[in-house]
Amino acid sequence: MDINQLVRKNVQKLTPYQSARRIGGNGDVWLNANEYPVAPNFQLTEQNLNRYPEAQPEQVINRYAQYAGVTPEQVIVSRGADEAIELLMRAFCEPETDTVLYCPPTYGMYQVSAETLGIKTKTVPTKSNWQLDLDGIKQNLDNVKLIYVCSPNNPTGNMIDQDDIKTLLKLAENRALVIIDEAYIEFSPNSTVVSWLANYPHLVILRTLSKAFALAGLRCGFTLANKPVIDALQKVIAPYPLATPVADIATQALSKDGINTMKLHVINLNNQKEKLANQLSALEIVEEVYPSEANYLCVKFQSNKEVFSKLWNEGIILRDQSKSIGQDGFIRISIGTQAECEAVITALKAI
Ligand SMILES: *Cc1c(COP(=O)(O)O)cnc(C)c1O
Repeated sequence: MDINQLVRKNVQKLTPYQSARRIGGNGDVWLNANEYPVAPNFQLTEQNLNRYPEAQPEQVINRYAQYAGVTPEQVIVSRGADEAIELLMRAFCEPETDTVLYCPPTYGMYQVSAETLGIKTKTVPTKSNWQLDLDGIKQNLDNVKLIYVCSPNNPTGNMIDQDDIKTLLKLAENRALVIIDEAYIEFSPNSTVVSWLANYPHLVILRTLSKAFALAGLRCGFTLANKPVIDALQKVIAPYPLATPVADIATQALSKDGINTMKLHVINLNNQKEKLANQLSALEIVEEVYPSEANYLCVKFQSNKEVFSKLWNEGIILRDQSKSIGQDGFIRISIGTQAECEAVITALKAI
């Protein structure tokens, strides 16, 4: 029996997200998933695993709300920001008719989630400076319910211009939600648009503990929005999305100490990033190192295939971007420890 015949048609056609873990590699230097390079130390304090967890653990919600500068009713917690990307589609989009719009090069999960759910997609590539093509977006808003904008953008590292986001919010008024994916905002915290929630009922902000908080393995993310949006998401989220140990550790990560530790990570990585960018720029095989507001650098090489595979063979795993729209020749390098950054430079100098 051909089980594949039973699989939903859109899933048969689906290319799964090429996550860093899925791509594999045999490395000692992992710089392809924008993770924090050192494991933080947490102890579980909650032992009662015989009971179901709180659906939306109160301490996690309250602490995140306080950290982000919103009210608890403006927060929902989920299994990573990735789940939030999908919850928005499940709550707001009719399969086969409604459309989500995003602007490549950008994060790959907007497309994968939409395709999984049978929701249509429209892409309006960014301009050559990686800013929004607002005219293009304006002409493509028919049936669009959700517009995903990543800022700082993954993989390019730039912030999206705030005046452009305001214009986009105006264009989307009364027709679509504008979702600003701030997965990396801790590396450039003054650029958050969170205070705009007061003025825009259709603004949604995505956050995560996976990047600056060094907890990618925890799977914990947040959606910030006004209550009507949060209420719609509460309807479609799983009954117990967060395991008790996840809520336990998230609560600790969001304590005063936890937040101070995260801020030290950011200072450290931002310094490391500047150093790595300078060293890369000095190499002949590097065409350009782009300014980055996040914990990775987007780098254009004369021969990115060769660079990627040579470093891969030495156990240094980077992210080859060349299959993404507008990213031919590009490699994304996550900022690791000082030793890891030095290993990259040493390996590149040998090419
Ligand atoms: C890493 C990342 C996410 C996913 O975050 P999780 O909380 O780990 O699911 C979402 N958006 C962007 C842009 C990311 O880079």
